[in-house]
Amino acid sequence: MVKLHDKYFESYIGSFDLQLRVKELGAQINDEYANQELYLLIVLSGAFRFAADLSAQLHQNTEIGFIKLHSYSGTESTGLVTAQLPPSEDIRGKHVLIVEDIVDTGTTIEYLMGLEGIQAAKSVKIASLLFKPEADKKDFPVHYIGFEIPNLFVVGYGLDYNGLGRNLNDIYQLK
Ligand code: 5GP
Repeated sequence: MVKLHDKYFESYIGSFDLQLRVKELGAQINDEYANQELYLLIVLSGAFRFAADLSAQLHQNTEIGFIKLHSYSGTESTGLVTAQLPPSEDIRGKHVLIVEDIVDTGTTIEYLMGLEGIQAAKSVKIASLLFKPEADKKDFPVHYIGFEIPNLFVVGYGLDYNGLGRNLNDIYQLK
């Protein structure tokens, strides 16, 4: 059990299971992009842990870029997405893999897929550590999913509650 600000969170997915699943996703990506260069577009801040571990599993030449988005306030989605930084590299003509921490309402994915640079890519796929099917309101396919979870607020392994919890090695759920 951990306390972050005013709320208690209990362990939900342990680091062993997280690492195992990330390895499996890495193997799947290696198979599907064999001999192809990849551009990982890492969605900050929540995906930083997942993306670091996932990228370490990849065998192909891989470029890495970052985009900083925000759509959450406290434990509720505001439905608003704002980009604080555009992708710094030119992704035109490249195989882009967007790396997300969690797909919830789908607003973030919808926003990213609408970016001009993304549309210019040779291909675009999405990898998300977590996926909340109950809450997914848009219809963009998420090609690589670590874990499907119920519609509960989670923290840890990159995900925060008002700034805290990103450093935790396990995923915790709101108690
Ligand atoms: P969406 O745009 O799909 O509604 O939400 C995506 C973003 O909302 C994620 O990248 C993440 O930052 C945040 N988010 C959604 N669900 C959760 C959650 O359960 N915990 C935390 N910490 N963030 C979440």
